[in-house]
Amino acid sequence: METLEFQSEARQLLQLMIHSIYSNKDTFLRELVSNASDALDKLRLESFRDKDMQVDVDDLHIVIESDPAEHTLTVRDNGIGMTREDVVRLIGTIAKSGTAEFLKQLKEQQSGGTAATSDLIGQFGIGFYSSFMVADKVTLVTKYPHAEKGVRWESSGESTYTIDDVEDAPQGTSVTLHLKPSDDEDRLPDYTEPAKIREIVKRYSDFITWPVRLGGEEINSRKALWARPASEVTEEEYAEFYRHISHDWNAPLETIRMQAEGTFEYQALLFLPAQAPLDLFMRDAKRGVQLYVKRVFIMDDCAELMPEYLRFVKGVVDAADLSLNVSREILQQDRQIQLMRRRLVKKVLSSIKSLQSSRPEDYAKLWGEVGPALKEGLLSDHDNRDAILEVCSFASTHSTESLTTLAEYVGRMKDGQEHIYFMTGDSRLAVENSPHMEALRAKGFEVLILTDPIDEMWVDSVPAFDGKPLQSVAKGQVDLETDEEKSAAAAKAEEFADLLSWMGSSLEENVKEVRLSTRLTTSPACVVGDAHDITPTLEKMYKAMGQ
Ligand code: ADP
Ligand code: MG
Repeated sequence: METLEFQSEARQLLQLMIHSIYSNKDTFLRELVSNASDALDKLRLESFRDKDMQVDVDDLHIVIESDPAEHTLTVRDNGIGMTREDVVRLIGTIAKSGTAEFLKQLKEQQSGGTAATSDLIGQFGIGFYSSFMVADKVTLVTKYPHAEKGVRWESSGESTYTIDDVEDAPQGTSVTLHLKPSDDEDRLPDYTEPAKIREIVKRYSDFITWPVRLGGEEINSRKALWARPASEVTEEEYAEFYRHISHDWNAPLETIRMQAEGTFEYQALLFLPAQAPLDLFMRDAKRGVQLYVKRVFIMDDCAELMPEYLRFVKGVVDAADLSLNVSREILQQDRQIQLMRRRLVKKVLSSIKSLQSSRPEDYAKLWGEVGPALKEGLLSDHDNRDAILEVCSFASTHSTESLTTLAEYVGRMKDGQEHIYFMTGDSRLAVENSPHMEALRAKGFEVLILTDPIDEMWVDSVPAFDGKPLQSVAKGQVDLETDEEKSAAAAKAEEFADLLSWMGSSLEENVKEVRLSTRLTTSPACVVGDAHDITPTLEKMYKAMGQ
């Protein structure tokens, strides 16, 4: 038997695990199961390549065994295993890129506060060492197919580990955790309890492609719906999965599947809801997309995959070429992830668009639930602004019953009408009764009625749709006159010049200018904002926000 020292970075990480305040200790089992699953993947690949390999690949699986009397938990696989050199290199050192950076960040965070530290650990993903969150001793026995003997590795997570030969080790690897006492100050759950094991596996590893067995029973469903041919998955299976990840009891309104092959492989299974998530308009609303790497659950609420305005989209993205230890920091910088996000967004928007034409009632339902969130994208996602505009619906003077799309509005535009007219306000009634509407009504021009608070925000940043400028009827000079009307108006302005300048000086403190208008038909006068002024509603909003 040999006693060896951990590499210093490994020692630091181990100390972190042993003294971890990371609240989600259950994840150690996810790490062990995912390592076992990787080992099975590798053995299968290896056996394809090396036909002479004397190994049994007929029943590749993972077994979890608990021994309440000994207070141990074992995760065993019959996968590729490790040689003695592998064990020393893979378990005794940390060769991962980014580890040093991670440790540095941790140090900085630690001086700041413990909550942030635990977040960071959770995002980094912790691998084999996470065993030491729940165990005070770990024994690993492994055998690589071509090696003569097996290897036993053991450590209590301090600075050293022992390594020894084993004559008759079975194929693969077993990791035995000598669990910390459950009256430990950490107050750990009893991990030898089958119900607890089952719960954790269900939660984190249900979609692992290999069977995970406990007491002879298979406890994972192995159903990675997104990896199965779309034609083989039933509506009900999708709905069940959707309910599981969304906590929404309804069936989804629409299921979206995507697949990309090549240099960056991924599969996505996304859902549009029939009902808005409860937290949709709350300050820290969650995003609904989970990231998986090769069927292993990595993180919830993945902001790098879906922009905030699409936070109502739920689902899973499974990327084949990411590390299981991928962190948010890495995701943020990864070009492939950015490309993937761009494609996901386009796909979601195009799915809403096809819903609009193929199932208008469902589209209307979706819009009613999540429209205000989608409209946030007009402000934040300039690249997709046109695509978002296409799936927006608005109230308009055309109909009191149904909403209109901008394309429908444009289709109804009168000869000579160049602008898409809109008016923002508190309510439909307020807008309809506004004096600003009179001239447009007289001309028979349709006006969009925008009464969502968010409407005030985006109208200024969206110049046009389909080449037709958007024009507020309450701002600046609404250009409604023909040439004759214009010269008549100019003559009138001259006629009333004295009156206008008298009114202007009398109202000096309240208005910038007094001018004749052709926009009124029944009201004698109205107050209009300058083209670049904020609207009264927006002014109210800013005041309410204390600005
Ligand atoms: P990661 O899985 O991200 O590489 P881990 O700390 O979980 O990091 O594991 C370190 C390495 O140890 C793995 O990459 C693998 O080579 C080896 N290893 C861990 N568990 C097993 C296992 N059950 N079978 C074979 N090799 C394993
Ligand atoms: Mg791992």
